[in-house]
Amino acid sequence: MNKSKESLFEKSKTLVPGGVHSPVRSFKGLNTTPIFIERAEGAKIYDTEGKDYIDFCMSFGPLILGHRNKTVENDLKSALERGWSFGACEPYSLELAEFITSKIDFVEQVRFVNSGTEAVMTALRLARGATKRDKIIKFNGCYHGHVDSMLIKAGSGLAGEAESSSKGIPEGVAKDTLTCELDDRETVEEIFKREGANIAAIIVEPLPANNGLLPQRKEYLQFLRDITKKNGALLIFDEVISGFRMSFSGMSGILGITPDLVTYGKIIGGGLPVGAICGKRALLENLAPMGDVYQAGTLSANPLAMVGGLSTLRQLTEENYKKLEEGTGKIVEMFREYFASKSQYAHLKVQSRGSLFWIHPAMPDDQEISSLADFPSNLAESFSILFDDFLEKGIYLAPNGYEVGFVSLAHCDQTITELRKRLWS
Ligand SMILES: *Cc1c(COP(=O)(O)O)cnc(C)c1O
Repeated sequence: MNKSKESLFEKSKTLVPGGVHSPVRSFKGLNTTPIFIERAEGAKIYDTEGKDYIDFCMSFGPLILGHRNKTVENDLKSALERGWSFGACEPYSLELAEFITSKIDFVEQVRFVNSGTEAVMTALRLARGATKRDKIIKFNGCYHGHVDSMLIKAGSGLAGEAESSSKGIPEGVAKDTLTCELDDRETVEEIFKREGANIAAIIVEPLPANNGLLPQRKEYLQFLRDITKKNGALLIFDEVISGFRMSFSGMSGILGITPDLVTYGKIIGGGLPVGAICGKRALLENLAPMGDVYQAGTLSANPLAMVGGLSTLRQLTEENYKKLEEGTGKIVEMFREYFASKSQYAHLKVQSRGSLFWIHPAMPDDQEISSLADFPSNLAESFSILFDDFLEKGIYLAPNGYEVGFVSLAHCDQTITELRKRLWS
């Protein structure tokens, strides 16, 4: 087989829509053909043309320990020898559920699914079933997977009214999602005043990290907690990225704000397909078979994926979080130094929280960006130049300026020295 990325991508495009199975992988809006990854190790990916890259995409978040962490690999090998799907009760999901509930106070029960999207879909249905209400409030700038009712953008009419951001979503579905800008208190209050009795839930990423990195004020998230409680609505924290990354208990642990439901994905499977809906037992027991909110899955709590998740989460010690933050700090400083030293990058800023970072053009007033409303207009163009330069140097960023960068534990040793060499090569 010809292994050049051009020939692989051409062939892909004949067999797969757009050549990819998830749109961001197509490098749309960039000048480069997608690289095809053949294997990975630690902080590096190796492509089919024999070139290696320091990976800052890390599968978009799950691989907090790095590629092919040896402990996870050995645990997966043992799991393989026991069989990889039973469609029946097994002890592995029990171990993972017990580990999570023992470490996160408000999580009394866990329902495992196969992706973040599925977790959100179930959380929304559960919220609606438990409150007997239909409407959901979501925020512009937050991503919650490709659930119909979440592919919604701001409309031009009444406060909160919205329209779908994808074709194929019935109006009847779109009308039950109301949208607000992040950090906008007034609109949320207005919606509750107008139709508080119809609001089932507010869903929010407590650290939005899918449209750049948009840190929120604690007071604002507390306001969302208070107004939902007061109106009999639920608060859903979508911690698919931030869960087990910002701390073991995610942003809710850091902020000391307890949502009614939390959705996890990405790290919870350590790179295998896992999502989870978590919360108090009384609420979770609305799900079938105890309750009338239906949810099921042929491959849910897949034994191999459960072992991958548990093996990953077990390594997330306080010490490792500390190492990860220190390493990220060094990497971010190095990027800043590099940008400051090159006139074509002097306008770039690096925003960072925990082991996440986001490179973006500076705002005129040099302020930290915290909402989609104050986004730099030259982001895509500016990112495209940087992406090509980095790719050439053997540094791989997620192929879209709206995506954040992910640092893993495997980046925190000699990779930092190697990054310096590659940047100034
Ligand atoms: C990635 C992500 C999702 C979707 O998860 P998938 O596993 O891609 O379906 C949902 N919410 C947030 C916050 C995410 O980052």
